[in-house]
Amino acid sequence: MVQQQGNPQYIIMKEGSSRTRGRDAQGMNLMAARAVAEAVRTTLGPKGMDKMLVDSTGDVIITNDGVTILKEMDIEHPAAKMIVEIAKTQDNEVGDGTTTAVIIAGELLKKAEDLLDMDIHPTVITTGYRQAASKAIEVLNSLAYPVTIKDEELLKKFAITAMTGKSPEFVGDKLADLIVKSVKAVVDENGKVNVDDIKVEKKVGGSIGDSELIQGLVIDKERIHPNMPKTVKNAKIALLDTALEIQKTEIDAKIGITTPDQLQSFLDQEEKMLKDMVQKIKKVGANVVFCQKGVDDLVQHYLAKAGIMAARRVKESDLKLLAKATGAKVSTSIDELSKDDLGAAGLVEERKIGDENMIFVEKCKNPKAVSFILKGSTEHVVDELDRAIHDALRAVGTVVQDKKYVSGGGSTEVELALRLKEFASTVGGREQLAIEAFAEAMEVIPRTLAENAGLDPIDTLVSLRSKHEGKGALKTAGINVFTGEAVDMKKIGVIEPLRVKTQGISGAAEVAVMIMRIDDVLAASKLSG
Ligand code: ADP
Repeated sequence: MVQQQGNPQYIIMKEGSSRTRGRDAQGMNLMAARAVAEAVRTTLGPKGMDKMLVDSTGDVIITNDGVTILKEMDIEHPAAKMIVEIAKTQDNEVGDGTTTAVIIAGELLKKAEDLLDMDIHPTVITTGYRQAASKAIEVLNSLAYPVTIKDEELLKKFAITAMTGKSPEFVGDKLADLIVKSVKAVVDENGKVNVDDIKVEKKVGGSIGDSELIQGLVIDKERIHPNMPKTVKNAKIALLDTALEIQKTEIDAKIGITTPDQLQSFLDQEEKMLKDMVQKIKKVGANVVFCQKGVDDLVQHYLAKAGIMAARRVKESDLKLLAKATGAKVSTSIDELSKDDLGAAGLVEERKIGDENMIFVEKCKNPKAVSFILKGSTEHVVDELDRAIHDALRAVGTVVQDKKYVSGGGSTEVELALRLKEFASTVGGREQLAIEAFAEAMEVIPRTLAENAGLDPIDTLVSLRSKHEGKGALKTAGINVFTGEAVDMKKIGVIEPLRVKTQGISGAAEVAVMIMRIDDVLAASKLSG
């Protein structure tokens, strides 16, 4: 550290590092963050466009999914990265509404910039934004409608709304039906849904309409011996987390064998041990075995001879799901395997899907894990279908869990904007301006939906506002992007889980506030090489 004479300035950072302060720092951060939000804007809604992303190895992704786009973009700017985080959090928490959350954050920052230009201090803006965000959550809760797991037709609408805009929408109704069925299958006694219990297998070939739901599991493995049965009805399934092999000793040991007889008896002993394993499996009554580890050649042979179907090196995650689907318990030792550990399935069968053999464990009674087989003509189609299904499963899972929903198509955002403006007038002071700005920022959603549908955003907003105000006001009036009219979104079934909106708005507000509060950027020099 050097103190310069007559100029009490300290050198506190290494050479090559940079520092930006005050309004400059804010300006740069706001610009970078808004640029990210701008990048996904055109994909919002059913009429949103897709993006083609090419990575450094030349792989191509075609998608409309906000979080996928942002994850694939190689974003460097720290403030811009914070916006990407919103999408990731939204995806983790609710699985849908990622684009919406990012667009709202971008708009909040844009409005904040206008306020900064009016010389309003960032602290005032952040305080106002925080107040507005918590009021917004309160209002959203008051706008929510109830739904139960029994409302199947209604639940299908959540799946369809989550999938619109992504390629599979033309078979949306069939897929929505399968999605609702799968969520209903895995919901537990406390009403919790873990969508990881719904396994999704992707296969190129056929068309999207050929996708199906299996009441059980599909395992990407084939039977280990050609003489094993390909089909087992009324399967009794053993799940083993132990090798069907002779375990090597942990310590180095030598066995002295001096005569051919001794060698023979040693080999006989090994064979007997392996035979005993199969004997044990037979005795407990299993006719299908899924083993997480290896299976000795001899064991394979004896299993085949006993008419038992087996697969080896099954993934741990698959074994857990098999347990949930069939009611089996995973055994860690063959000696401890008992009849009670076995699971059941009406049918276990090896089938060819495309070029690969897979084992279908189906017709399970009340399975707590199920599988989707997604099909599509090309890899890109199947991948986008996978993302759409992911969003839809999460949306339905969330709403089944929370039992609350709001109307979509920008209707909730327009209502929210009105309520927040009313709230702003009760607050007063400079914060009022920030709350008003927050309220106006909500309108970016209907505006963007209209823009992306080739409609006039101003006209749309004006007609929506008029429907939400005055006599006969309709809180659920939103934009039907296919006709351009302001209609009741609840009536036409454009609905979304409440949590998609609460998480989106609070996530966007938190990050906007965080970015606003930065007035000094100290950046170390980049490591070279
Ligand atoms: P996100 O990643 O935020 O879910 P989407 O591209 O899926 O982005 O668009 C979601 C928005 O589109 C929501 O505001 C939703 O209400 C709206 N939306 C979905 N279907 C329709 C529809 N048929 N008409 C109008 N708006 C719709």
